[in-house]
Amino acid sequence: MNLHVQVALCILTAHQIINREVGVEVMSSKIHSVVIVGFGGMGSYHAKLIKETNSLEVVGTYDLLEARRADSINAGYKVYESYEEVLVDPAVEIVLIATPNDVHKEIAIRALQAGKHVICEKPVAMSKEELQDMLDAADAAGRVFMVHQNRRWDEDFLTIKKMYDQETIGSLFQLESRVHGANGIPGDWRHVKAQGGGMLLDWGVHLLDQLLFMIDSKVISVSSSLSFILGNDVDDGFEAILQFENGIKAIVEVGTTNFITLPRWYVKGIEGTGIIEDWSLTGRLVTRNNEGEKIEPKPIRAGVGLTKTMAPPSEGATITEALPQPAELGSSFYDNFAAVIEGTAEPIVKNAEVMRVQNLIEAIFESAEKNQVVKDFDMYGEGK
Ligand code: NAD
Repeated sequence: MNLHVQVALCILTAHQIINREVGVEVMSSKIHSVVIVGFGGMGSYHAKLIKETNSLEVVGTYDLLEARRADSINAGYKVYESYEEVLVDPAVEIVLIATPNDVHKEIAIRALQAGKHVICEKPVAMSKEELQDMLDAADAAGRVFMVHQNRRWDEDFLTIKKMYDQETIGSLFQLESRVHGANGIPGDWRHVKAQGGGMLLDWGVHLLDQLLFMIDSKVISVSSSLSFILGNDVDDGFEAILQFENGIKAIVEVGTTNFITLPRWYVKGIEGTGIIEDWSLTGRLVTRNNEGEKIEPKPIRAGVGLTKTMAPPSEGATITEALPQPAELGSSFYDNFAAVIEGTAEPIVKNAEVMRVQNLIEAIFESAEKNQVVKDFDMYGEGK
């Protein structure tokens, strides 16, 4: 074998190993049939996205409401008259659950027991116990159960993940992840505690999932507060401070009464600072310039005082750069799901990770309720 061929084979092998880790070694070769249960905002969005894939196909929908059934007919999908009808239809391989959160468990378990694979919207369940029942049902049935933690694929997050993995601004030691809106809590069931309403379960689950997916360390403590500014039973926002064993601190904040928004991400590394302002990835990195002589900052007047400590760095003392390209996960959520069914990939969203996030959410609720720092709860490393 000549040297070029040997090098090519080495590269191929390394590539295959990397891809196996992120779960995309072999792309799906078949089209799998999906019925969407709950054809509201997210159910209809799934239908649009699935149209763009080659691995899944929506063959019908089921919703309790007449208006949603009409939407489904208008969109060209078969409407099932009852959930039982979905379950007994052998043409249906996958049930995709996009209903309010309190009914995810029952719908999922019945689907698994009927031999269907399940995609479940986030937050997967109302509690760890509910999630465990769902996972037990998936194990017993030998079916795939995967939670739609789609914001692992967000480009803003994947940009931060690239910076974390490659230490673009040195090792990160503080991350601030925020989403701010000024529209209050939208819709109906999101205001109702018994249906799994509130912003910690809604947006919180995304932001926390991103952090635990990225940071390879145990959460050693959490302190949090929830806000009830709008007078609902459920939180209309929250702030949580997570301390990781490897020294990283993360501040996570969701607000629904913010008429001026703070940046989506603000991260500090040993060598610099990074900011991502918005969903369009407006942002920059500012790093220490290690070339040449150290240039002392000049004192400035600040308010009624004088400061050198808080003066902007002198010209040439820092370098401003564009954000790096986002990291890649290798496969879309839907293609990965299809490949997992076919046994050719590992899930990118693993159930042990979802359980860990559910556990963290419960620790955040506990910390807010008791107004205390909560420790010794994280399931890091369990079930990996
Ligand atoms: P929605 O109120 O717009 O739609 C829910 C639909 O479910 C309604 O049409 C309702 O009639 C139907 N439904 C309720 N109970 C049902 C049952 N037992 N059987 C069949 N249909 C039933 O809500 P939504 O905003 O689409 O949210 C649905 C789910 O999607 C929630 O879990 C939510 O957290 C999640 N979601 C995820 C994302 C994401 O980015 N991953 C975004 C939005 C919503």
